[in-house]
Amino acid sequence: MTASPALTILGPGLLRGNEKDLSGARVVVLLGPPGAGKSVQARRLSNDYSIPVISTGDLLRDHVTRDTKLGRLADPYMKTGRLVPDSLMNPILEERLSQPDCRRGFVLDGYPRTLAQAESLDGLLKKKGLTPHVILLDVPTERLLKLLAGRRVCPRCQRVYNIHYQPPKKEGVCDADGTPLVQRPDDREEVIGRRLETYQKETQPAIDYYSRQERLLHVNGDQTPEKVAAEIASKLLPP
Ligand code: ADP
Repeated sequence: MTASPALTILGPGLLRGNEKDLSGARVVVLLGPPGAGKSVQARRLSNDYSIPVISTGDLLRDHVTRDTKLGRLADPYMKTGRLVPDSLMNPILEERLSQPDCRRGFVLDGYPRTLAQAESLDGLLKKKGLTPHVILLDVPTERLLKLLAGRRVCPRCQRVYNIHYQPPKKEGVCDADGTPLVQRPDDREEVIGRRLETYQKETQPAIDYYSRQERLLHVNGDQTPEKVAAEIASKLLPP
């Protein structure tokens, strides 16, 4: 892989251990309220740095689609905008992070979402000698409501659109594969309020945890995805 200049600078400092297979591994954590555009930015980082995106929402939805035991247990929480308990979430995440494609690093989208998850992630990464870069996408609440209610997703390739801000070229279908777009059940207006409340109550303490340790990189999420990406790239450079 040819590393971009930003990448070369991002690499060192993340690796603290001596594990050979983790040489040059990069871990980026994307935090931000629901609808802030984490998944779009996660995909960009994944392309730029050739590392997989680990989206806990997608992992859970995959279990629900495959109708696994974990999926059946997680489904009622997801449908109502509540967090899936750690006893279900953490084993799914750990299993995914143990896959070979994560050896070079990964972008975490949607995890951690609680203080306990942030601490648990630190423990997990410490064992591998890794320190994550933690990015927080800041977006005002009024805008989040419109972002969430207008979001549409391609059920095949998971590409995300917004009917107000980023519509597909042809109404209602994915630009990439022509699949009819869908609205996630938890993007319905009656569930959105609950998700934002959950974020304030449960995820804010995780953000405060990183903030106290001066590990938080604030990025203005209330601008075009291109500008957000540029700001993220600039923040990942050392001061
Ligand atoms: P968004 O960030 O837009 O809310 P996600 O796709 O990340 O959506 O998550 C969808 C749902 O999956 C959440 O509302 C929650 O029920 C569940 N979920 C995702 N990640 C986690 C997590 N880290 N811990 C607990 N539940 C989670």
